Parts: sequence; structure tokens; C-alpha cells
Amino acid sequence: MCAWEGRSPASISPTMNNLQPNPLLAMRDLPPFSAIRADSVEPAIDAVLAENREGLRRVLDSNEAPSVSAVIVPVEQLRHRLARTWSPVSHLNAVMNSEALRAAYNACLPKLSAYHTEVGQNEDLYRAYTAIAEDPALTPAQRALIEDALRDFRLAGVALPAEHKAHFKALMQELAQLQSRFEENVLDASTAWRLRIDDESRLRGLPEHVLRRARSEAEQRGEKGWLLTLDFPTYHAVVTHADDAGLRRELYEAWSTRASDRGPQAQRFDNTKVMQEILRLRHEAARMLDFPSFAEYSLASKMAQSVDEVRSFIDDLATRSLPAGRREMRELEACAGRALEAWDVAYYAEKLRRERYDISDEQLRQYFPVDRVLAGLFELTGHIYGLRITRRTGVDVWHEDVALYDVHDARDELRGSFYVDLYARPKKRSGAWMDDCIGRALLNGRTELPVAYLCCNFTPPVDGHAALLAHTEVVTLFHEVGHTLHHVLTRVDYPSVSGINGVPWDAVELPSQFMESFAWSPEVLPLISAHYQTGEPLPRTLLERLIAARRFNAGMQMLRQLEFALFDLRVHAEYTPGQSDRIATVLNEVRAQVSVVPVPEFNRFAHGFTHVFGGAYAAGYYSYKWAEVLAADAFAAFEEAGVLDRATGQRFLRSILEVGGTRPVMDAFIEFRGRRPQLDALLRQCGLAGG
Ligand SMILES: [Zn+2]
Repeated sequence: MCAWEGRSPASISPTMNNLQPNPLLAMRDLPPFSAIRADSVEPAIDAVLAENREGLRRVLDSNEAPSVSAVIVPVEQLRHRLARTWSPVSHLNAVMNSEALRAAYNACLPKLSAYHTEVGQNEDLYRAYTAIAEDPALTPAQRALIEDALRDFRLAGVALPAEHKAHFKALMQELAQLQSRFEENVLDASTAWRLRIDDESRLRGLPEHVLRRARSEAEQRGEKGWLLTLDFPTYHAVVTHADDAGLRRELYEAWSTRASDRGPQAQRFDNTKVMQEILRLRHEAARMLDFPSFAEYSLASKMAQSVDEVRSFIDDLATRSLPAGRREMRELEACAGRALEAWDVAYYAEKLRRERYDISDEQLRQYFPVDRVLAGLFELTGHIYGLRITRRTGVDVWHEDVALYDVHDARDELRGSFYVDLYARPKKRSGAWMDDCIGRALLNGRTELPVAYLCCNFTPPVDGHAALLAHTEVVTLFHEVGHTLHHVLTRVDYPSVSGINGVPWDAVELPSQFMESFAWSPEVLPLISAHYQTGEPLPRTLLERLIAARRFNAGMQMLRQLEFALFDLRVHAEYTPGQSDRIATVLNEVRAQVSVVPVPEFNRFAHGFTHVFGGAYAAGYYSYKWAEVLAADAFAAFEEAGVLDRATGQRFLRSILEVGGTRPVMDAFIEFRGRRPQLDALLRQCGLAGG
């Protein structure tokens, strides 16, 4: 039970209406996932919000002079309790979506948004934090927490006159709902689409495991033939491997028109108006606080200083990558012997990669059974950080595929835990991510250890076969483990600056992308590979070819990310009220500048861009590339010292992974690297140095 509940005389009763205890309120330690029902959600959130409002009033009504113990600690406790209660709800909404849960989730969004804005606009609280900021005895963590909080008060409109405050709050509520709606449309469009295939010849070229899964999908619905669904592994397999260009086009069209006015489900889940509204409201909110645009508002809490700085950063990388990207595209066309359509690119890229490096995704997959990859990954973190990661059994989880792992450090101290949910399934959000289940907190003498969710959408095992990961999936897993360790290994005791909290969003992708490089390392590949039948590690020749192929089409990959980043930045920076068609215009201009792949007229990429329109990366997608500079340079320190070097690992742990948001990222980086970050390591990694 949370410490706050024990302290409060008006403590929430975990029993609602004298019936069953509400599992979200009775929660001890890990969330009781199997007991959480949609009808638990709203009463629990209502109760916690009411208690938090009451708690905040008590803090502010107290006669004590503002201090860390009188104000910051109780406010951190309120925050922690709410985050801890809401986290399993928003997580289940993402991984086990249902109509009832979705309704409950959406009913809470405006309440949560209203509460957060109220706290952010509370002038008494703002004054209390301002007074505490003057205390010369603050620790660096306390100082960072207060500085972040003061900035966030300003970004929530604390200085606005009363009537504007109410309007700003309404904007935030509406935005929260629209962003959720955007994500729902993408999920529903993906779930609703399927393609029945009766003629096996259309499936030629597809890997065996994809065929098995398509067959099993059909059988489960009592249908004949094969059923293709619109999850990422299926889409990716078809556009990469299917010999039938018509089939590739069909999947490409379905995928790239999700939730839009075009394609096979045109207008059924259309996000067009939702996107326009989201941009309009973001712009209006930013203008109310005197930012020229939402892009500047977004950057106010990031490492990058200005839109111009980010724009130059993207333009510079684009200029360096374009010659390579154009050359790579010409090579693909030469391989195909014709001009390529968008749905041909992945197919011929795989063909050319196979020709040039004599490797294929499917051949490599046989060496990466998921259990071996995880075991090797944990062995790696044992080498560099001294961690011992073990599976805990008998835990209540949300799906039978899910496992929980405990992380012990070199002194055998339990540091935290994480859930792993690896496979694609219906009603699960696409993509891969790490999220905060419980944040680390040491408040009033009670420590709560951090817990994370690590979620992916890998091809699930079918018919009792072991799940075999493509190497790209291995890289994704390393990425998410990087985030997970950042969250779990924190030493910071205040939840608002522990783990990934309080870390500027454009630095959050440092630990994750840093971790990816290990999945390409000749020292690490033998640890994570074993042929699923023979147990033999990845043969040396294959390993060398895989590493050599890392830079294959690196220019095109870089340009694709820059296209997303530039679109996101510009669509927010250049928003002009009344110009609702700007989204398509900006996207076309950006493509003309940085894309080397032809894009069909029907492509509606932006309509499924959940990173940005769902909220988290809004005017911040550039973060991936920004942080990749830091990540590549940090990994270079390991290459210099030996990839498994414990001393370098310890330094990374202390300077970067443990500090949460308690110090500026640049200072932490300089402490680790002994100098400021340099671009060279990333350019070398992508084979773009000197380009
Ligand atoms: Zn990430």
C-alpha cells in the first residue's frame, strides 16, 4: 500500500460500495492484472483524484513554512499514487484493448487532464515551490526537481489570468481526448482489415512461419486458405518477401492508408479532421503562453534550444545522407531492372542484400530463438553492469505470453523489475515501447522499487514452434531493454525525476539507441545466438556478413527518419490558423526535400503517425536522431575500451543510467565521455563519414 494512504485520515477505502475491493485501490506492490476490470477504473481514478485534491489543500493550508518535507515530499507522494494507479489502466488499454476498457479509459482522460492542469496552474503551489527554490541547502536532485516543476507550472499556464486558465485547461482536456481518438482509429483500422488468400501461388516467397501463422489465423475463424492480418510482422513480411507485386501493393496500400480517407477502408476510421483539430489546439495552447508555435512550446522542455537549431541539425544530416540515399536507390533499381514503386523497395532491398552479403532475414532468424536472445542479453548486462536478471514465476500477468524479470545489481541488491510482452496480437497497439509501471520512490522512509513494461510486436510462435526473431527484432529488443534499464536502475528517490522522468525527451532515446549497438557487436552476437535446432552459435562467416550489412541502405534509412522528423517539426512550427490542408502540403514538401523513394498519391503516412499525433513525440520526433548522436558516441567509448568492459559500463551506469532527470544531460554525458558529444561516431556507424 502506498505510504500516502496510510498517512491520510481521509484515506480512500479500497472497498467500493461495500462490494468487492477495487483492485486498483487495494493494490500492493505489483498490479493485480487479472482482477482489474473496466468497471474498476473510473471509481478508482475518481477516488484518487478526490483524495489528491484534498491532500493538496492540506499541504497548502498548513501553517508550516514551505520546505521540501512540508511540500515537495507530500506532492511527490500524490503524484506517485496517481501514476501508480493509472499506469496499469493505460497499459491494459494499449495491450488488451476492449470496448469496455476503452470507454473507461476515455472517461478518465479529461478528468486526469483537468487535474494535471489544475495542479500546474495552482498559484499557491507555484509560490511554495518558488520559495523553496531559495533554500541554499537543497540537494542537486531537489534543485533539479524544483527547476523542472517551476518550468512546468509556466508551461501549464500558471501565469495566465483566471478566464484564460480555464480555457487553457479545456484545450488540454480536448487534446487528450483527440490524441486518444487518433490512436484508436489507427488500432481499429489495423484490426478491421484482413485479406483471405485461396490461391497459394500468391504467397510465393513468404517465409514458412508467416504462412503457418496465416493458415492458423484462417483456421481459428473456421475459414479455408490463408488469412493475412494488418499487424506489423505480417505487413513487413509481405512487402519484404512476397514475389507477387500485386500482393505487396495490396498490403502496402492497406498499411499506408490506415485511418485515412483513402485505401480499402477509406473514411471508415478517418483521422483527417482529428489531426487538423490536434494541430489547431496545440497551436492555440502554445500561443496563449506566448510561444510563436507549438514547436517552440515543445522545445521549452528539451535539450535542443530552438526550432532553428533542430532544423539545421536535420538539414545537415539530410545533406550528408542524400548522396548515399540516391545511390542506394539507383542500385535497387538496377537490381530490379526497372523503376520501383514504393511497395517494391523493401522487396528488392532484401534481394540485393541477399546477393551482396549472402545473408537473408530468414536464414538469420534460425539463430535467434527468443530464449537464447534474452539469456545472452542478460549475460551482456551481467558483464557490463554486473546485473543478475532472473525470471519471477507465479506473478499475475495480463496475458499468458507475459513474463516478469527481477534485476539484481553486483551487490545482489534488488533494483527493480520489468514485464516482457513480446508478441503481436489483435487489440494490442503496434510498435515496441517501454513504459513506467511503478516509478522509484523513497518518500518518508519507504522505498518503492521501479517496475517497467517492455512491449514489442514480434511474430508470435505458432504450433508450439519456438519464436525465432529476425535480427531487426533483436535490435528492437535491445532498444527497449535500454529504456527499461534506464527506468529500473535509477538511484533517484523522487518519482518526478527518477528513471526516465524529468529526462528531456530528446535525450530519452540515448540509453535505448546506445543499447542497440551491442546487438551488432562481434563480442555480443555469439552470446545471443544459437541455432534453434543444433544450438550452434551464429557461424563466424554469417556474423561477419551480418555486421558488414549493417550499413546497407543506411542512407535511405537515415533519410526516412529525417523525413518523419522534419515533417513533425515543420507541421507544428509552420502551423497557420485556417490552413487545414497544410498537413499534406508540408508532407509533400518534406518528401521533395529528403525522400529518395517514390510515394504514391494514396499514401497517408501521417494518418497513422501515432508517435506524433498520439502525443508523446509531438514536435519531438527529431529526438531519435538527436539522441542517436549521443548514443553512437557513448558506444564508441565501449569500442575503445572493449565492448564488454566493466569499468566503462560502471561509468555509464553512474553518469547516465542512474541519475534520472537530476542533472543536465550534457553534464552527465561529459562526465561519462570526458568531452562534449561529437557527430563522427554516428556518421561512422552509418557509413556516412566524409559523405
Ligand atoms: Zn525508444
